[in-house]
Amino acid sequence: MKEGLEILYSLQLHDDQLKETENLIKEIPGEIKKVEEERDGKNTIIENSRLKLNENVKKREKLEKEILVIKEKIKKYKEQMSKATTNKEYQGFIAEINFEETNIGGVEEKIIELMLESDEIMKEIRDSETEFSKIAAEYNTKIKDLNTGLEYQKAKLGHMIKERKELRAKIPANLLHTYDHLAKNKNGKAISYVETDFCGICNVKVRPQRLNELISSNEIFVCENCGRILFKKIEVQKEAQEEEPQ
Ligand SMILES: [Zn+2]
Repeated sequence: MKEGLEILYSLQLHDDQLKETENLIKEIPGEIKKVEEERDGKNTIIENSRLKLNENVKKREKLEKEILVIKEKIKKYKEQMSKATTNKEYQGFIAEINFEETNIGGVEEKIIELMLESDEIMKEIRDSETEFSKIAAEYNTKIKDLNTGLEYQKAKLGHMIKERKELRAKIPANLLHTYDHLAKNKNGKAISYVETDFCGICNVKVRPQRLNELISSNEIFVCENCGRILFKKIEVQKEAQEEEPQ
């Protein structure tokens, strides 16, 4: 029975590692998503500049339409002017046309200002894009590493599942049944390692007599407090071998 217990303890250690690996596989995709969101957040500056550029273009289009309207007005004045009968009337049209042409000049100045602003915004975008591509490269490397890690853990899990099957095949059926039952009810921890004289999981002291029996007897003992199978490594005396030759 003691030998079976050794293998059973290896199974416990193996199952603990397997659980850790499974947890990692669950956690990594969340980490990847977090890094991706962080990276995309850095893109906001560029997005804002692009919005500014769009507004600038819209303003310019609106002003260009204004010019067309004014030019239409001037055209009509000129038509009416050609039909003017008095000099006063004629002079009136000239004044109107001059006024509207001055207006066009004003609007054109505004367009030029907007074009200069547009150049600045485009430079902003270019600079931000260069900056972002540097940051993004770092983030992408991080993401790539996380994905590599995930693949590694998945492969590892595959091996561990295979190894577990091999380990389980070596354990007597009744022992395995007890182990599975305890593992199910005790959060995956069926075996408690007793290092000195305490239950390794619930930390309750094992009575001296029981500890003696645990070492000398071939029976299976469970912790009186938490009900887990107690496992204590029996130290083989190696004193004779460790003695240095004189
Ligand atoms: Zn215990």
